[in-house]
Amino acid sequence: MSQSANYVLPPLGLNPSTTAAGTTPGSFARKPTIAPGPEGRYTFASPDTPGMPEPSMKTAWDFLPDGWATFVDAADQATCVSRDPESGLRPYSFKQSDGSTRHVTLDKRWKGFQPVTQLEYARLGIITGPMKRVAEREPHLTPAQVRDEVAAGRMIIPANINHLKYQLDPMAIGRASKTKINANMGASPVSSSTDEEVDKLKWAEKWGADTVMDLSTGGNLDECRAAIIRNSTVPIGTVPIYSMIIGRKLYDLDAETILATLKHQAQQGVDYFTIHAGVLREHLQFVKKRLIGIVSRGGSLLAKWMIDHDAENPMYTLWDDICDVMRGYDVSFSIGDGLRPGGLADATDRAQLAELCTLGELTERAWRKGVQVMIEGPGHVPFDQIEYNMKLQRTLCHGAPFYVLGPLVTDIFPGYDHITSCIGATSAGFHGASMLCYVTPKEHLGLPKKDDVKQGCIAYKIAAHAADVALGIPGSRDRDDELTKARAALNWEKHFELSFDPDTARAYHDEDLDVDTDFCAMCGHDWCSVRISKEIVEFASGKEDGYQWKKAKVTAALTPEQQQILASRGNLSPEEIHKLASKTKKAVGAKEGEKASCHSDYVDDDSAKRLQERSLPLVELNTTN
Ligand code: SF4
Repeated sequence: MSQSANYVLPPLGLNPSTTAAGTTPGSFARKPTIAPGPEGRYTFASPDTPGMPEPSMKTAWDFLPDGWATFVDAADQATCVSRDPESGLRPYSFKQSDGSTRHVTLDKRWKGFQPVTQLEYARLGIITGPMKRVAEREPHLTPAQVRDEVAAGRMIIPANINHLKYQLDPMAIGRASKTKINANMGASPVSSSTDEEVDKLKWAEKWGADTVMDLSTGGNLDECRAAIIRNSTVPIGTVPIYSMIIGRKLYDLDAETILATLKHQAQQGVDYFTIHAGVLREHLQFVKKRLIGIVSRGGSLLAKWMIDHDAENPMYTLWDDICDVMRGYDVSFSIGDGLRPGGLADATDRAQLAELCTLGELTERAWRKGVQVMIEGPGHVPFDQIEYNMKLQRTLCHGAPFYVLGPLVTDIFPGYDHITSCIGATSAGFHGASMLCYVTPKEHLGLPKKDDVKQGCIAYKIAAHAADVALGIPGSRDRDDELTKARAALNWEKHFELSFDPDTARAYHDEDLDVDTDFCAMCGHDWCSVRISKEIVEFASGKEDGYQWKKAKVTAALTPEQQQILASRGNLSPEEIHKLASKTKKAVGAKEGEKASCHSDYVDDDSAKRLQERSLPLVELNTTN
C-alpha cells in the first residue's frame, strides 16, 4: 500500500455539490450550524487557525429596545405566557427554525407598535415577503431560517420600504447565505452623467452585482440617485456625507443638514447608508504613524471636521437620531470604516482596531433601535492578516455581516488591483466576510468605465463563488460540475453556455479554431489529454448522454461583441494611454495657473497639528497573545 493511503482527511463540512456527492469528500470548512441564537455563530465558517478570536456569544437578541424582553422555551412547555400586566399586551410566541418556541414581550410603552424594519418583523416572529423571496433565491435556507438569521443580526435584507415599490428584488447579506458582491459607480466632478450611470447600473447587474453603491460626487446627484433607484433590481447604497457637503464648506456641516439629507435619501428609497460614525477624536492620534493616513473619503472629511471644530464626530453624537430616521424607512446601516488601512504597512494597526471597537458599540445601539446593520472592513491587508481581521469583527460586532473592500494583498500592481484585491476577497469570504466590494482595474487611477465595471464584477464573482464552494454551501458547486462534464466531453457549445462569460470564452476559442473538434488549439490534437483520456478511460461524466456531441460543425460567426473582445486584447500604446488621460484642470473649473478649489481647502493646518500632537487617552487593545 502506498504511503498516501494513510492520509487522514480533516473533519468535513457539507459537500457543495448536489449532483456529484461521491467525487470529493466535501468542504474542509466547519459543518454549518444554521440555528437561531448564538448556536448559529459558526454557520459556514472556516476552521480557526490557532489564536483567532472566538465568535461572540451575543446576538441582536441581546440588544433589544428598552421595554422588550424575550426567552426561549426549548422544551415548549410554557403553553400559556401571560399578557403584560400593565399594558395588557399579548406576548408574541413563535416556533423557531430549530423547533424551540420563542416568546417576546413588549411593555406598555410599545402599545400600538407597528414593525417597519425586517429586523423588527423577525423579532416578532413574522416571516415577511422579502424573507420568503430570499429563501426562494437561496434554496439551502427555509423562510424560517432567514427570519431567525435576521433576528439574530447575522443577516440583513437591505430593502427600503420605498424601493420595494419599484423593481427591487429582495436579497440577503449574511454568513448563512451565499457571498455577495457590490459594485460602485457614480458620477464624479470630471466625468459621467445620469444616463451613463444608469447604463453602468444595468451593466453591473448583468455581470452579477448583488448590490450597487452610488458614490456620485458630481453632476446632478439627486437626479442620478433617483434614476438609479427607479431602475435597479438590486439594493442601492450611498455614502450620504458626499451630498451633505456639495455646495457648502465642510466646516458648515451641522446636525440639521445631516438629518435632513439622510431623511431625503431614505424617502427616495436608498437601501443602505455608509456612515462613518466610528472615527472618534481619540482615534486620530493613532494615524500619525501611518504611511498614508486616512484613505476613506468619509473618514478623512469627518476627521477634518472634528479637528476644525475641536468636537466629536457628529455622526457619532447624532447616532440615535440617525437610527430613528433610518428605522422609519428600513434603511440598513453599512457602518463605515473611516480608518481602514490604505496600504499594507497600515493594516491591522491601532487606528483601525480602535475604530472597530467603536463599530461594535454602534452595532449594539442600532440593534436597540430596530435597525439592520452590516459593518464595513478593510482595505489593504497582507494575506496572512485577513483571517484575524475577519474573526475579530465577528467577535466585536456579534456576527453582524461584514462587508469588506477588497482587501488588496499587495500595493505594487496599479492597473491590476481587481486581481490583487480579489485574492484578498476570496480569503475574506472564506474567513467571515458576507459581502465583497469590488475593485476595478481603475482603482487608485481613475473613474471606472463600462469595461472596468465588468472586469471588477467578474473578478469578485470569482472570489465570492470560490469562497462559497470552499465553505460547502449546498449546491454552490453544481455549475462547476456541469461545466467539468462538458469539458470532459469536449462539448464546446455546452462549455460556453455554462461559462459565466460565454461571449469571451467563445471568442477566445474561435480565435484559433471555429469548428467543434475533439481538442482545442492550446495543445492540439496529438497532445490533448482530455481526448486521450476519453479513449483510454471509462469515466462518468464525459460519456454521459447530453454531453457528447455528435459530429464536428462550424460554429456561428463571431458577434460584434466577440470581435470587440478579440480586438481589445492587445495592449494600448503609450500614445493611446495619454489620449485617455487627457483630463485637465479645466474639467474641474480651475483657472489658468491656479489650484482647483475644494471643500478641503478650508482646513486649518495649525489646529490639525495641535490635535494630532495632543496626548489623548489610549484605546487599549489586546493585540498580542
Ligand atoms: S487541447 Fe489541451 S486545453 Fe484543449 S481541450 Fe485538449 S487538453 Fe484541454
